[in-house]
Amino acid sequence: MTDKDFVPFIKNNKIERKIKQIAKILDQKYDNEEVCLVCVLKGAVVFYSQLLKHLKNKNIELDFVEVKSYCGTSSTGKVKMVKDATIEIKDKHLVLVEDIIDTGLTAKFMCEHFKKQSPKSILMCSLLQKPEKLSVKLDMETLVAFNIPNKFIIGYGLDLDEKYRNLKDILILKEK
Ligand code: 5GP
Repeated sequence: MTDKDFVPFIKNNKIERKIKQIAKILDQKYDNEEVCLVCVLKGAVVFYSQLLKHLKNKNIELDFVEVKSYCGTSSTGKVKMVKDATIEIKDKHLVLVEDIIDTGLTAKFMCEHFKKQSPKSILMCSLLQKPEKLSVKLDMETLVAFNIPNKFIIGYGLDLDEKYRNLKDILILKEK
């Protein structure tokens, strides 16, 4: 598929089963309180739209932010906000929906950014996390669907130079 070889890692049915469980946890946690569910573009878009379908809370507002930190298969170490949220977040529960927590720099950046808007609480809900790579202390609650090893992955919203986001399974970079 590319000059790099990717192999199947997490199948679509397993991902979707897990997302249903995550939605249940969020519904129990917030009951019917006001929640701002903010999708971190572009990687989280598939996870976000699937999660939405299973949430029963009738008090959810949606928004989107776009941040950039990756170039090819490695982080640039600098996080840039390309598009900010526009809804009122003050005194509401904020759930940031991410594709993956890697070094944690993006999560930390977002937490600091949104804390200034005085939400009632902040939770980062991430489809994936590479625990071995976490290099910063995250000053917020996190909810992670899958912990994975320190390898580059694509599919289910995650890209390699903007491609492969549409793959329904998650694939992992093969050991050479
Ligand atoms: P962090 O700031 O935690 O280092 O990185 C977060 C962002 O880097 C993610 O939102 C994602 O866009 C990108 N990223 C980190 N690891 C991977 C990976 O294995 N595959 C892909 N496609 N993107 C990744």
